[in-house]
Amino acid sequence: MPDRKTPEKRTIREKMFGELSDKDLFEQAKTYAVEYMDAVGGRSVFPEQAAVEALRVFDEPLPEEPSPGVDVIATLRDFGSPATVAQTGGRYFGFVNGNVVPTALAASWLAGAWDQNAALGVMSPIAAKLESVCEEWLVDLLRLPEGTAVGLVTGTSVATLCGLAAGRYSILKRLGWDVNADGLRSAPLVRFVASEESHASVFKALALLGIGRNEVVLVPSDSQGRIDPLHLPQPDEPTVLILQAGNVNSGAFDAFSSLCSRVRDSGGWIHVDGAFGLWAAASPTLRPLTAGMDRANSWSADGHKTLNTPYDCGVILCRDRGALVGAMQAQGSYLPRSDQRDGMDYGPDMSRRARSVELWATLKYLGRAGVIELIDGFHERAAQFSEELGNRGFRILNDVVFNQVLMAGETPEQTEAMLTRIQGGRVLWCGGTSWNGEPAIRISVCSWATTETDVRECVAAFVEARDTTQKS
Ligand SMILES: *Cc1c(COP(=O)(O)O)cnc(C)c1O
Repeated sequence: MPDRKTPEKRTIREKMFGELSDKDLFEQAKTYAVEYMDAVGGRSVFPEQAAVEALRVFDEPLPEEPSPGVDVIATLRDFGSPATVAQTGGRYFGFVNGNVVPTALAASWLAGAWDQNAALGVMSPIAAKLESVCEEWLVDLLRLPEGTAVGLVTGTSVATLCGLAAGRYSILKRLGWDVNADGLRSAPLVRFVASEESHASVFKALALLGIGRNEVVLVPSDSQGRIDPLHLPQPDEPTVLILQAGNVNSGAFDAFSSLCSRVRDSGGWIHVDGAFGLWAAASPTLRPLTAGMDRANSWSADGHKTLNTPYDCGVILCRDRGALVGAMQAQGSYLPRSDQRDGMDYGPDMSRRARSVELWATLKYLGRAGVIELIDGFHERAAQFSEELGNRGFRILNDVVFNQVLMAGETPEQTEAMLTRIQGGRVLWCGGTSWNGEPAIRISVCSWATTETDVRECVAAFVEARDTTQKS
């Protein structure tokens, strides 16, 4: 059918065909991205105040008319790039934020051009294939039971939601109750047991599943944030126990061996929140931290933390494939199942990005040896922080077993003043927390780009921050 058009006004479709064949738009985006990557190591880790203020440029009403694509991208370069946090440099230690492996970034550019929907095998054979491959590779890498199912979701928050839903589905099914059909109101009681040190996302997932905070049995933890086995309730009721591989502050791991056997033997379900810590299982050096973890039923982890994939890469691993698929069920006459993998069966989303492409590219690029070097490197840099900060008279509040370091000054006031000084400076960025009742500075080593020199310069910045804040 011929396009109807006036000679002076091109339709938006014609413009878009133009953008596709005129390669400027993409060349320009690539140039800006490469410029950004080249400069990121030398710039202030947190953006300059002026750059944050300049974001006012985005406060405009919805445009009535289209804009040229090159202008859209130039606006992002001019005003967006300077207002980013330099997470891809080597001196960002906030939260537990990874960096992106360059090959995974390149893969994500290509996958962006593919624009696949990974809901069903029939929608994207390549996404389905790579998801199956990642499933096998991850189970191998993390030393989990053969046949463990893997779902790719947005992050650990959603992965935990899936694990807990699968656990509840499975326990209720065994008790003769179909939670998908008959809901919770009259269902047999399932007890949820979690450490008082559980990550906030665990309580969010439980609330979304209809389990209120006050219904959760909270188990006290020790000074490192590990669940105290002495306080575990008797396994006399159907129970879902939530354990942790990597406390978000201290990096501590629960004592899986003894905890898992007690709950498993009574037919309970154990979920391990291993957002960043699960990856320790891949390293011969750090693996002892995860001893007994393979006895759990489900595990959640992030690619975008320790593995350094791009964002939006969470992983749910579930020993009982049927329980995960059962809990995530969705049917529709227009949703054909194939003998290929149908990714939507393993998580809450239907339409989903083909995040398997980036995850596969990361694992293919690094290989087992690369993953081990990456993870051991985080631990080595964290240990270096701990040692050098300790030598300079700072207090280290945690046992640095993995990638997390908690440090403090002599007084709470000094700790807070140092943190303010550091966050206002250019050298590094890290966050604060409260640990065993006192303010602490939280250093999370999670970027492949962090070198020994970065750590040394950051320690010097802490010394400078202490000296300056002591004087004032
Ligand atoms: C980051 C984190 C989460 C949440 O993961 P998201 O990917 O941000 O959803 C859960 N648990 C722990 C221990 C974490 O560190």
